Amino acid sequence: MKHDTYKPTLTTASSMETHPFVVNVTKLLNNPGSRVTFSCVGTIPDLSVTSSRVLSEQNISVDAVFESVHSGVLVSSIIKTVWEGECRRCLSAISSDLILRTKELFCQDVALDTADTDYFEAYPLAMDKVDLEPMIRDAIVLNLPAVPLCNTRCKGLCSVCGTNLNEQMCNCVV
Ligand SMILES: [Zn+2]
Ligand SMILES: [Zn+2]
Repeated sequence: MKHDTYKPTLTTASSMETHPFVVNVTKLLNNPGSRVTFSCVGTIPDLSVTSSRVLSEQNISVDAVFESVHSGVLVSSIIKTVWEGECRRCLSAISSDLILRTKELFCQDVALDTADTDYFEAYPLAMDKVDLEPMIRDAIVLNLPAVPLCNTRCKGLCSVCGTNLNEQMCNCVV
């Protein structure tokens, strides 16, 4: 017999293919004060801002700790994916890792519980299921670079002839 700490595991509510971010938290809610870890990988469509995006087929991995608190479930997570976009100055394709840390509350009565907590907003806890997708979507869209640059010293394109001034000079008089 092992005597290590009780570590319940969370399972996704339905098939990994369709709802990788929906988590059944029944056991957690039945054990106030308990915490469990949960990891999942999935994709989310339509994650984009003007000049950068996470492609719909791009994997998004989430490592989370779920904690049963009096008002619901507190989820601390690390979200990892890759964004791509175009440099706003020279239009070259760029891509980079996006790693985000979030701490969000999921509760059954969102309107009632947000007033007396430190959290600006809470996500809904429907019955015994937590759907992480809206949280992941918000975190990614808010953190996608609005003005991506290939390099902070990018010289951009000549406004007259369109030459990429990082690669060569032109003779235009601007
Ligand atoms: Zn550039
Ligand atoms: Zn030019």
